[in-house]
Amino acid sequence: MNSSSTPNGFAELGIGGTLLAAAVRAGFEHPKPIQTLAIPPYLEGRDVLGLAQTGSGKTAAFALPILSRIAALGTKRLPRTARALILAPTRELAVQIEEVFRELAKGLHLSTALVLGGVSRASQVKRLHAGVDVLVATPGRLVDLVREKDVSLAETRFLVLDEADRMLDMGFLPDVKRLVKATHRDRQTSLFSATMPAEIEALAGTLLKDPVRVEAAPQSTTASEIAQSVVMARTRQKRGILAGMLAGDANGPVLVFARTKHGADVVTRNLERDGFAAAVIHGNKSQNARQRALNGFRDGSVRILVATDIAARGIDVPGISHVINYDLPDEAESYVHRIGRTGRNGADGIAVTLCDPAEVSKLRQVERIIRMRLPVTASHLDQPDPAPQPRERPVRAENADQRQHHRPKNPRSAPNGVHAAGRKGPHGKPAGQPREEAGGENRHALPRQLMDKPTAKKPFRNRKRRGNFRRQATKAA
Ligand code: AMP
Repeated sequence: MNSSSTPNGFAELGIGGTLLAAAVRAGFEHPKPIQTLAIPPYLEGRDVLGLAQTGSGKTAAFALPILSRIAALGTKRLPRTARALILAPTRELAVQIEEVFRELAKGLHLSTALVLGGVSRASQVKRLHAGVDVLVATPGRLVDLVREKDVSLAETRFLVLDEADRMLDMGFLPDVKRLVKATHRDRQTSLFSATMPAEIEALAGTLLKDPVRVEAAPQSTTASEIAQSVVMARTRQKRGILAGMLAGDANGPVLVFARTKHGADVVTRNLERDGFAAAVIHGNKSQNARQRALNGFRDGSVRILVATDIAARGIDVPGISHVINYDLPDEAESYVHRIGRTGRNGADGIAVTLCDPAEVSKLRQVERIIRMRLPVTASHLDQPDPAPQPRERPVRAENADQRQHHRPKNPRSAPNGVHAAGRKGPHGKPAGQPREEAGGENRHALPRQLMDKPTAKKPFRNRKRRGNFRRQATKAA
């Protein structure tokens, strides 16, 4: 960013006064393409359909014009109402969005609130009591609060559905529709989605009136700063290779992706055994644990964060040097989101994918999506598997990718040729999950309609139903 240039890019789009000053303070001098496209029609009161993902600058693309329009209304908010509602699929994303609104609203005397599952409800209800200007929420908890009349959306005239495709994936669509119905009929609506599956296209068709369509170039085409590569390795070799990388070149903030929640726990545990401080974030962790892990990663006290796809969705941590895909994702598209966590805002980034021969078909799907062949920079397939480590307690693996617990403790024995120093993390001690979270809070990982069912405690009698329940719960990782 060129600080000597006149910070008037947003002024030209129609953002002025205190809000413009707040944008500049937040480091927004030159509008990103999605902002240039979305802000002017937004200020005119048009509905907006945005094809954009986290990292494109879409939050400010709706936050700036919404704040501008609310500030211009001048009227006072009513008790237990929200003038604008932003719905987001994950708590992490909701927290981030609310932070952006709060930062930009400074000096405008506009209030913001956050409503999420997994944290105290009483404080959220109290916060809504006087009414708020901008409410950022995940759908499940908000449906409860609306049903119990803790908040009314009858005065909500600005509505944003963010990452609509993820809300669909996570089973939130019925809740979203219920909430939309409760908002003011005469509202300005926008919908942002990284992809446009038929259901989202249909939803947009019913919710938006003559929308302006704006599109940010997908990250797969903009993230040329990210050096991507593949390391071929059998699942049993991956632990040592990861340790070797972390002790070698990957010495900055590293985000490690695992395919499943259980897999993420196993990777984290093994990292700690290998002497690396790591935190983990996935859908079975309580909201507080997730936020603590994220904060630690953000403030640099935790260098390595292990995450599942959905939990990592929307994570915006500047300066991530490496993304390491311990497993290939189930959905090829997730690869683009994963690697987009590094190389942000023009910074360089490195994305390495560890690929077992059994994962090659998934790799090919990824290559089809990103329309390029990923270079294989190393292969360990001609090397033997590491010797089993009998002292480790065996853990039940969800798939072959996680059946790799017999590993030597010392990452020096890493079979990747990069010899690890076996060192500790920044504080010389592992920063893994605290004991009290070991059991997790399974219910918070589930779509809301499942969360409220007492079946979470009662064993399922019907095998088929239990199967479905499990499948959906895993999906919401
Ligand atoms: P988002 O896609 O909204 O999550 O934004 C991604 C990142 O871009 C965040 O770190 C924002 O702070 C940053 N950002 C958004 N707009 C701008 C801008 N105009 N100039 C510089 N950074 C921006």
